[in-house]
Amino acid sequence: MAQVLPAIFFGHGNPLNAVLENRYTAAWRQIGTEVSRPKAILSISAHWFVPGTGVTISTSPRTIHDFGGFPQELYQVQYPAPGDPALARRVQNMLKPLPVGFDDSWGLDHGTWSVLRHVYPNADVPVVQLSIDEAQPASVHFEIGRKLAPLRAEGILIVGSGNLVHNLHAYAWGRHMPDPYDWAIRFEEEAKQMMIAGEYKPLIDYESLGPEAMLSIPTPDHYLPLLYVIGSRQEGEVITFPIEGVDGGSISMLTAKVG
Ligand code: ZN
Repeated sequence: MAQVLPAIFFGHGNPLNAVLENRYTAAWRQIGTEVSRPKAILSISAHWFVPGTGVTISTSPRTIHDFGGFPQELYQVQYPAPGDPALARRVQNMLKPLPVGFDDSWGLDHGTWSVLRHVYPNADVPVVQLSIDEAQPASVHFEIGRKLAPLRAEGILIVGSGNLVHNLHAYAWGRHMPDPYDWAIRFEEEAKQMMIAGEYKPLIDYESLGPEAMLSIPTPDHYLPLLYVIGSRQEGEVITFPIEGVDGGSISMLTAKVG
């Protein structure tokens, strides 16, 4: 029987991580060497947060530079991983009756490539992206993760890319690196304990978790990819946090690995 691959939520943080070498990117590389080589990757990125659920169908998805005001070096990055139309069709079938459109206009956004560039630097593992339907409640995103779980036994690595705590209003962009905000630390710890205990209901109903959750998740886009990953967790599987840290005071770089 094929080995069941993990599902991994990466805290991607600053797009510049794509071209930096730091403790986060070193840990991403380490994960790439430790996890069995996948046949393909299904990536759910915070940066494809749109009306409707779509899946990339291109055999050669383009590298999207979906940010502004960064150094030229970042705009020159290409991540030429192939696509995998067969996986896109499989995803569409698995999610029925939810309508999933084949999308030939998107590609790989920086939520995907800023991390995968370190995990699989040769860009030789096919990648398909699945969009996050902004109109659906959190429970639907969790449910999609649950439905996609069988892919993990078929050699597919499910990747969520976002940030558990993502408050750009409080984020320090300059050289000055402030200590993490106490509300960020507390919410991150609370969420970790819920994940370890398999208490998913409050994580799905995160809007009822109080003011610290609201400061940590002012918009849902960077949080929801986590729900796909924990939704794919099977009975008895461990969840670990191979990377921790808070960047700029208010961005959690937590990585959560299921299986
Ligand atoms: Zn982001």
